[in-house]
Amino acid sequence: MSFLELKDVTLKFGGVTAVDNLSFSVEEGEVFAIVGPNGAGKSTVFNLISRFYDPHNGSIKFDGHDLLKSKPSGVAAFGVARTFQNIELFDQATVLENLLVGRHRHRQSNFLTELFFTPSVKKQEVQNRHMVEEIIDFLDLQAYREKRIAGLPYGVRKVVEVARALATDPKLLLLDEPASGLSVEETTDMRWWIDDIRRQMGITVLMVEHDMGLVSGVSDRVLAMADGAKLALGTPVEVQSDPAVIEAYLGH
Ligand code: ADP
Ligand code: MG
Repeated sequence: MSFLELKDVTLKFGGVTAVDNLSFSVEEGEVFAIVGPNGAGKSTVFNLISRFYDPHNGSIKFDGHDLLKSKPSGVAAFGVARTFQNIELFDQATVLENLLVGRHRHRQSNFLTELFFTPSVKKQEVQNRHMVEEIIDFLDLQAYREKRIAGLPYGVRKVVEVARALATDPKLLLLDEPASGLSVEETTDMRWWIDDIRRQMGITVLMVEHDMGLVSGVSDRVLAMADGAKLALGTPVEVQSDPAVIEAYLGH
């Protein structure tokens, strides 16, 4: 069985079929990219995996779990983390605080243990802090640790968004357009971060991305979508030379 497996998944919004009988699977350890024109259904696929939306039919399985039987919090607990096309961070909180919130799912304490601040809670707080500091070092965010999100350059916020997702200690990381709005240099940096996240942290990456340089540079396999459906699936070279893909891109 594959690590992540979508089978015959369909979701309609009124008359629009956002995802149309889509099947694909992602293997553990790979970087898998979804490409396609605007409105192709890419973000909707992420929203389906995250359980923000219910498909009309089909199945979604991750790491042996039937995700359609889970709530969004359950999907996160299985080890799926995501970033958003529009950055979703707490603007008035610092980078460090945002990452500590990301650790929240690992807190096994309740109100009473918090209140009495037992040794086990203390130990967990130390571990959370330690992991967050490691991620800050890993993504070179040291200079921004105590800075509020609101005052940070856009490119840095994009990296913090990735850091926040990593702070949940995921097995599968969903990145929605990690390079959108980034400069050429920032995009190159993002490429290396994604490569390091896979190689050094051993995290499987599923990303939606428009920048074909980034996609070809870092992905093992690519799924091209149009109108909610699969156009092509293969290596970056195979997909980029597929006539159906070329036509979809020229047609838009
Ligand atoms: P992409 O990320 O590939 O640009 P989306 O997944 O955001 O595309 O959207 C796919 C289609 O579904 C579009 O036609 C979009 O307008 C529609 N859609 C997405 N989300 C919603 C929603 N919450 N309500 C209604 N229509 C939606
Ligand atoms: Mg999108």
